[in-house]
Amino acid sequence: MSGHIAIIGAGLSGLAAARAITDAAPDAVQVTIFDKSRGTGGRMATRYADPWKFDHGAQYFTARTSGFKAALAPLIESGDVAPWLPRTGLNAPRASGPKYVAAPRMNSLGKQLADGLDIVTETQIVSMERLGGLWHLTDAAGTVWGQYDHVICAVPAPQADALLPAAFEDRPLLAEVKMLPTFTAMLGFAGPWAGDWDVLYPSGDMLNIIAVNSSKPGRDKSLTSIVIHAENAWTAAHVDDDKPAVLEAMIIEFEKVSGMDARLIKHKAIHRWLYANVSEAAGQDFLFDTTLNLMACGDWCLEGRVEAAWISGNAAGAYVAGHYNKKPSDDA
Ligand SMILES: Cc1cc2nc3c(=O)[nH]c(=O)nc-3n(C[C@H](O)[C@H](O)[C@H](O)COP(=O)(O)OP(=O)(O)OC[C@H]3O[C@@H](n4cnc5c(N)ncnc54)[C@H](O)[C@@H]3O)c2cc1C
Repeated sequence: MSGHIAIIGAGLSGLAAARAITDAAPDAVQVTIFDKSRGTGGRMATRYADPWKFDHGAQYFTARTSGFKAALAPLIESGDVAPWLPRTGLNAPRASGPKYVAAPRMNSLGKQLADGLDIVTETQIVSMERLGGLWHLTDAAGTVWGQYDHVICAVPAPQADALLPAAFEDRPLLAEVKMLPTFTAMLGFAGPWAGDWDVLYPSGDMLNIIAVNSSKPGRDKSLTSIVIHAENAWTAAHVDDDKPAVLEAMIIEFEKVSGMDARLIKHKAIHRWLYANVSEAAGQDFLFDTTLNLMACGDWCLEGRVEAAWISGNAAGAYVAGHYNKKPSDDA
């Protein structure tokens, strides 16, 4: 059976879905991925502030399931993913099991997984319409894309909520999902990192993690780049505050916690993530509507982790591939 599938979102879940389809379904199935950003990888993100680079989304990830471990194995073998053994401090440890990072940057995993796929970047899908059983997607510039047999919405839950039609069967599960914001401070220092820790887990209510980005495998070690994530609750309480004021507050706390001298900072920037973490998940691998041929996937289906995004996207993609791999006799 042939078909054309659109995936909205080229974060890990959208890319895992695309890979699951292209690995399993016949050549006749075409996949097109849309992303509003310039690149791929979504919240597995890297900010460039020459000469510094900051992984300002996910810091590292863990692999607890056999499926994700198997997917990572060839990437570890090729060096696209590397184990990270940070020296931790304050109230360590937080995550159990080995920690992994994409190398040489967190966004390089998205690039690697996107290789060979049909990806349309800088294209924000704003609405979708089904005509004669086929989906048409309209982007922010008014261009209509299509026609698609299936659409997989691989964007954060509030953005999926805005895109999916009111009649989407699993909408009640989507409505349960709650995502939380995080402020991220990025600090650049001259010279190599000389501290005796690579990750600090502060205990106060403002900062969640302080990570020496430049200590990760494959990074430029001649400079020091530090990423600080604020706690979700603290961010939520200050979400509309003036960003430079938030950055200064985070730097003051960083000085207190780390003992570092803020006068040595050569570069500073802040980013606000509105959908950084998941406090209420949908509770199943992916959401779907078999009548409308619509799926939704993302970390928010399970939990706010890289591995959960992969599990969700991979499951949604395998489900769609199964549709195209069906033999006529399967329906008999
Ligand atoms: C600050 C922060 C810290 C984190 N720390 C960790 C950590 O230490 N460990 C860990 O395991 N996980 C961590 N995470 C979570 C992890 O990054 C996510 O679970 C995972 O990357 C989510 O992947 P996704 O594909 O579900 O969503 P995303 O990565 O958000 O991908 C969605 C994509 O959809 C695109 N998009 C959205 N709307 C549209 C639209 N209308 N049209 C076109 N494109 C659209 C976006 O540009 C994005 O590329 C962190 C996340 C953040 C933000």
